[in-house]
Amino acid sequence: MSNEWQAYPVGTPPSGKNWNSKCQKFDEVSHTAHVYHAIEMAREMVIRGRLIYDESKLNEERWPVVWLSPNRWNSVGSRYGSVEFWFDWERLLKNVDSFWVEAIKYSPVAPRFLLANDSKDLPVAEYDPSEFDGPWAFDESKGIHYRNGEVTLEFMFSGDLPLTRLKSISFVGHSEKYCCLKRNSPKSCLEHALHADTAREMFVSGLISRNIHGGRSLFRERWIAK
Ligand SMILES: [Zn+2]
Repeated sequence: MSNEWQAYPVGTPPSGKNWNSKCQKFDEVSHTAHVYHAIEMAREMVIRGRLIYDESKLNEERWPVVWLSPNRWNSVGSRYGSVEFWFDWERLLKNVDSFWVEAIKYSPVAPRFLLANDSKDLPVAEYDPSEFDGPWAFDESKGIHYRNGEVTLEFMFSGDLPLTRLKSISFVGHSEKYCCLKRNSPKSCLEHALHADTAREMFVSGLISRNIHGGRSLFRERWIAK
């Protein structure tokens, strides 16, 4: 096996409606944030790229990214907060190249990709999803993206991501067990175990109380509370 990503390949796309966990379609990705951060993003109408600080091999590079994933947390709740900003995957891929970064041995494993115009001297490898040999695959003839649903795909989008490119907003409960901001004491997070409906009320009232209009792009699409 020559490439690390080949350890986590998508399965064969099943015919008909019988999807399987190793091969799932996706056409959008989200950035998930805590409510108070999400309000600040709405105020600025941009998700600011941040330096990578976790165990990633890029954590010593001065390379700001916005984290994105096609994953849906639903019943287990999210460790990243309760506001999900969704973006159209095809549109995001325009004008960026794709690179393999690493697979972090979480449970489940988190394969990571970098989306960037230029990877400069970063220790990453070019990745072609149409090769169909990794956890993210693209069927060019059908225009469909697939993911291995048994792992958690994570995409690092280089730089800032303007909310003018937003597709929709949804709300999800905050995990009871984990918090990305309070790794060692998740219960000390002010939004610990927050319900999706409460998150939506906090987000909306936060926008109104700060007189944040966000332009048409923030409100023209559907809002979803799961
Ligand atoms: Zn939290």
